[in-house]
Amino acid sequence: MRLILVGPPGAGKGTQAVFLAAHFGIPHISTGDIFRANIKGETELGKLAKSYLDSGNLVPDSVTNDMVRDRLTHVDTAPGFLLDGYPRNVGQAVFLAEVLLKNSTPLDAVLELSIPNEEIIKRLSGRRVCRNCGATSHVIFDKSKVEGVCDNCGGELYQREDDKEEVIAHRLSVYAEQTEPIIAFYRELGLLNVISAVGDVSEISTNAVAALK
Ligand code: AMP
Repeated sequence: MRLILVGPPGAGKGTQAVFLAAHFGIPHISTGDIFRANIKGETELGKLAKSYLDSGNLVPDSVTNDMVRDRLTHVDTAPGFLLDGYPRNVGQAVFLAEVLLKNSTPLDAVLELSIPNEEIIKRLSGRRVCRNCGATSHVIFDKSKVEGVCDNCGGELYQREDDKEEVIAHRLSVYAEQTEPIIAFYRELGLLNVISAVGDVSEISTNAVAALK
């Protein structure tokens, strides 16, 4: 199964990606997670990416495309992959199509998680992320047992710089202007499946699997 998950920030792509990757037995490749790991590790890539992530802008395609192409050469992608947060503009979608064509590994599906903007702002401004394991919680909808402490591993919960309200608005406009056009691109190719990202997490997972059958 070679799959792309697309949707605005806060649609719950990360949560559904973890579920779907386990369900289909494929690696979950999140470009955002790769950038954050590099920022944490203070690598050259991390130093380059940090200002883009903090401001909610896209890291340049020249950097992101090469990173994804390299990741897709790893042996764990033999049974397929789930891309989360990539492609994020038409240039990346075209680049990916060329890489996959060269590898003779066509996409099976693109799954769009659809959600209204008001809901996104509520979700993202309360989201907290564990510094240690990356698990997410929410200060109202999914509270950790102890404030500021991850239920999963006991690590410290923090608010991503780009989950602050002023950056969220900017990320939404970046999504509308740069990422939304890829939805039409994949619809044209007959690969697009759309499900609602509002409601119960497990119900959304069930709908996602059904849409991919
Ligand atoms: P995410 O965790 O997917 O919300 O991504 C967080 C941030 O990482 C984005 O706001 C961008 O700054 C950067 N990023 C993630 N994926 C990409 C991509 N495909 N192209 C460019 N920048 C990206």
